[in-house]
Amino acid sequence: MRLILKFLPCAIALCALSTLAPLAVPQDAPKDAHGIAIANMDQSVKPGDDFFRYANGNWIKRTELPPDRRRIGIFNTLGDLSNKRTLTLIEEAVKANAPAGSNVRKIADFYNSYMDEGAIESIGLAPLRQRLDAIAVIRTKRELARALGASLRADVDALNNTNFHTPNLFGLWVAPGFNDSEHYAAYLLQGGLQMPDREYYLGSSERMRDIRAKYQVHISAMLKLAGFTDTDARAQRIVDLEHAIAEKHRTLAENEDIHEANNTWTQADFSAKAPGLDWTEYFRAAGLAQQDSFIVWQPTAFVAESALVASTELETWKNWLAYHLIEAYAEVLPKALADERFAFFDKILSGTPQQRPRWQRGVDQVNRLLGDAVGQIYAKRYFTPEAKAQADAMVANIIAAFRRRIDALSWMDPATKAEAQAKLTTLYVGIGYPETWRDYSAYDVKAGDIFGNLWRGRLFDYQHSIARLGGAVDRKEWSMEPQTVNAVNLPLQNALSFPAAILQPPFFDPLAPAAVNYGAIGGIMGHEISHTFDTEGSAFDSKGRVRNWWTPSDLVHFNASTARLAAQYDAYKPFPDLSVNGKQTLAENIADVAGASAAYDAYRASLDGKPAPTQDGFTADQLFFIAFGQNWASKSQEATLRQQVLTDPHSPSQFRAATVRNLDAWYPAFEVQPGEKLYLAPPDRVRIW
Ligand SMILES: [Zn+2]
Repeated sequence: MRLILKFLPCAIALCALSTLAPLAVPQDAPKDAHGIAIANMDQSVKPGDDFFRYANGNWIKRTELPPDRRRIGIFNTLGDLSNKRTLTLIEEAVKANAPAGSNVRKIADFYNSYMDEGAIESIGLAPLRQRLDAIAVIRTKRELARALGASLRADVDALNNTNFHTPNLFGLWVAPGFNDSEHYAAYLLQGGLQMPDREYYLGSSERMRDIRAKYQVHISAMLKLAGFTDTDARAQRIVDLEHAIAEKHRTLAENEDIHEANNTWTQADFSAKAPGLDWTEYFRAAGLAQQDSFIVWQPTAFVAESALVASTELETWKNWLAYHLIEAYAEVLPKALADERFAFFDKILSGTPQQRPRWQRGVDQVNRLLGDAVGQIYAKRYFTPEAKAQADAMVANIIAAFRRRIDALSWMDPATKAEAQAKLTTLYVGIGYPETWRDYSAYDVKAGDIFGNLWRGRLFDYQHSIARLGGAVDRKEWSMEPQTVNAVNLPLQNALSFPAAILQPPFFDPLAPAAVNYGAIGGIMGHEISHTFDTEGSAFDSKGRVRNWWTPSDLVHFNASTARLAAQYDAYKPFPDLSVNGKQTLAENIADVAGASAAYDAYRASLDGKPAPTQDGFTADQLFFIAFGQNWASKSQEATLRQQVLTDPHSPSQFRAATVRNLDAWYPAFEVQPGEKLYLAPPDRVRIW
C-alpha cells in the first residue's frame, strides 16, 4: 500500500506491468505541448459530476484496451517507454560480448536464454523433471518439511512494495525490525495459495464458483502436461488443500494492521505454538537454523497451515509441491505449459485475452532478477542531474507544505507535532536512483539455461536477503529499480524513493507550468510523504521504530476523520454488485487526499507572490486539479478491475481522481455547486492534515 500504484500480484509470474502500446497519454498531446493534455479531456462533462471523465473522458472514448493488456494508463505508457529503453540497453549488452562474470554479460546471457524458445522446446521437461523427481522420492513428513523449507523465498514484502502473496507455504521478508529498527529482522508471512487471495477460494458468487471449477481443470491440465497420470484426482486434492489453507488466511485488510502483525516467535516457539510441521527441519533446509527469532505476521495462519502439514496425507502435499513447482517455472517451460498457465491466470483470472510479446516478458524478468544491473546503466543514460535537482526542489517544497499543515493543526498535541516534524527532518528521499548498487557477483547466469537462471536468480535473491539478517540497516537502500514507473514509501526506513522512470512527462516536465507539475508528480510526491503520517506511519517514529507517538486524543480525532473517508469510498460502486472496500483502501485514500492538499499548498507557495502561469485559457488552479485527475487516466479489463477491488489496497482510478472533492480550492476553481454529484458540503469534506 506504500506504492502510488500496485500492479497485480507479481507472484503470478506473468505480471502484466507494462507492454508496448500504440495508445498513450503523452503521445496524444501535440508534440511541442507542455502541460495538461487538453485533447484527453471531455469538457462536455461537468467537473462537479464526474471529475475523472472531465479530465480524461476523450482519452477513455478513443482508447481501446489492447488484448494483451490487463490495464492501460499513464503508468503503463511510461512503463512501455521504460521497457523500450531497457530493451535498447539489453540489446547493447548482447552486442558487447562482455567478459564472463560481468553484469553486462549476465544481462545478455539471461535475456538470450529467455528469448531462445527453440532451446526451451528442445530441452523440454528435463530441468523440471529433475526437480519433480526430488519431490517424488519424499517418504516422510520430515522430508516434506525439508522440501518446504528449501522452497522458502524472499518473495513477499509487507510494507514497502506490499506484496502479501506467495504460492510457497510461507514467504520471507527481510526488513528493519519492528522492535529494533537499527537491524534487519526476519518476517514470515502466510502463503500456500496459487490464486491471488483467499476470496477466490471462499467467495460464494457465481463468478468465484466458476473460477474455482476452471482452476481445478487447469491444475489437472498442467499436471498432465508435466507427465502425471490420474490428474483429475490429484487436482481435486490440491484444490481441497488450498481451500483449507484459504479458510485460515487473514484478509488483506487484517494484514495491514501492523500491531496485529508484530508477533515475535523464537525458533522454539514454532513447535510449541504451531505444532505439525517439523520446524527444525524446515528452518535448517531454509538456511535459517541460526536465526533465533522471527516476526510472524499472521500467527493463526501459521498454526493452521502447520497443523495441515500433519493432518493432510503426504501424497497430497507432494502433489501440491509438484504442481506449485510447475507453475513457478511454467513461463520458461515448453510452450504448451506456458500457454496453459496464461490461459488460466491471465485470460480467466485477469481477463487478458492475448499474451504479450516475448521480448516484453523477457525485459520484465531481467528487471526482476538483474534489476540493479540494468538500472545502473538506465539511470546514467536517461536521468539528468538537472532533472534530479528540480525534483529535489519540488520534494523540499512539498515537505515544507506538510510542515506548515502540521503546525496549523488545532487538534494535534504539541508533543505529537514535534515528533511529526522530527519525522520530516529525518526522512530520506531518494530521487532517480540509489546511491549504492547490488553486487551480482554471486549470481551465476549461464548461456542457454533459462530454467537454471531463474532458479538460481530467485535463490540468489533469497540468499542476499538472509545474509543481511541481524546486520545494520542501510536506511538509503531502495526496494525499487530506477526503470520502474512507480514511487514508494519505506516506513521502517523512514524513506521515500522516486525512480527515474516516473520523473518524466506527463508526470514531471520541466517545461510545463508549475501548477501542472505540482498537480501531477507533486500529488504523487505528497501521496508518498503522507504515508509517513497515515494509519501505519503513525505507528513508526522518526527512527523507524514501532512506537505509538500519538496521544489518545490525537488518535480519536484521526480515527473519526478517517472513518468518514472510509465511508466515502464504501459508497463507490465500480460494478452494481461490487463496492470499493473503504477500510482496505483507507491508507491509500488518505495518502491521495493529503498528497493533493500538500502539493496544492506547495504549488501556491512556489509562486512566491508572482502571477501563476496559465495554459489555453485554464487558470492555474484548474491546471493543478486537471493534472492531478489526469494522473489516473486508465482502463482495465473487467476481470482485472474486479481483482483489484478484492486484492489491492488502492482504489480504482476513477475514485482516486474524484478525491479532489475533499479540497476546498477545487470548488471555486470549477464553480462546483450543491446538487452536482461530487459536491460535498464543507463539513463533509474530509481533511486529514
Ligand atoms: Zn500509497
